[in-house]
Amino acid sequence: MTVSTLTLNNGVELPALGFGVFQTPPEETVAAVAEALRVGYRHIDTAAAYGNEREVGRAIAASGVPRAEVFVETKVWISDYGYDQTLHAFDKSAGKLGVDTVDLLILHQALPSAFDRTIGAYRALERLLADGRVRAIGVSNFMREHLDRLLEQTTVVPAVNQVEVHPYFRQPDVLAADAEHGIRTQAWSPIGGITAYRADGSGRTFDDPVIGQIAGVHGKTPAQVMLRWHLQQGRSAIPKSTRPERIAENVDVFDFQLTDAELTAIDALDTGVRRGPEPEAITLEAFGRDIPEA
Ligand code: NDP
Repeated sequence: MTVSTLTLNNGVELPALGFGVFQTPPEETVAAVAEALRVGYRHIDTAAAYGNEREVGRAIAASGVPRAEVFVETKVWISDYGYDQTLHAFDKSAGKLGVDTVDLLILHQALPSAFDRTIGAYRALERLLADGRVRAIGVSNFMREHLDRLLEQTTVVPAVNQVEVHPYFRQPDVLAADAEHGIRTQAWSPIGGITAYRADGSGRTFDDPVIGQIAGVHGKTPAQVMLRWHLQQGRSAIPKSTRPERIAENVDVFDFQLTDAELTAIDALDTGVRRGPEPEAITLEAFGRDIPEA
């Protein structure tokens, strides 16, 4: 399976479909990432806060796939924000991953109530980029106002904004803000995994009748239809699974096309209800935690 690529605003090529490992326990991460690389994924999305960077690095090293062919993305946790702390956070992540350079390093969240620390952290990413330690830098869970504040005080426009986007929560304003600034949107929970974890009665994207009907037309699964929806709208998507059959299913999305009417029908499923944490409410007090040394 060959995954198409997206060009970031600094010319770096990002595989359009990547592999997520949030909530993948360390003891299952090596096998999951190994399987993903075996079936054709060339982009892994991890984070310091996931506690599995070491296992991601081990799987890549043992895979036989040349390091240069695997796009490694990780995230700095809020507890490591501030210029010097974030430079050190890079060393921790690179050490655990066992790599000299990280392909894409992003800030995991904005810290709206301590935005000066967010700016310090981003300036450290700019330094790492200038020094060639990272190939691209970006952010995650930044809303329009967070992007505006960041862009006012820093130089490098983020290459990526990784945010919650699935058929039940589309965030059109964030998609528009990203597009206005030339920032590539990367969809987390792209197939709506978060709608399945949270038994809040609002339903799972996997069971949606509209998505199911479209899947039937194409002889594909609901997950494959949702991933196609992202890809055809220019978004990067990073589905997670620990099951080999689903890992393979989720990358098998390059042999069919949704029609404009089908894309619009999926857009219309947006409920406007966020399932993840409210980005404006992220604080060190509530979400801070120590990220161990490498
Ligand atoms: P996903 O939309 O990727 O869904 C994953 C869930 O769906 C898992 O429960 C998985 O279970 C199940 N699943 C996977 N494939 C299929 C399939 N084909 N059919 C049915 N069920 C399936 O959600 P995630 O929340 O895991 O997000 C994906 C990635 O996004 C994360 O791994 C992480 O990299 C990133 N992320 C980033 C966040 C951020 O704040 N920046 C927040 C959340 C996620 P199983 O493993 O058993 O197959």
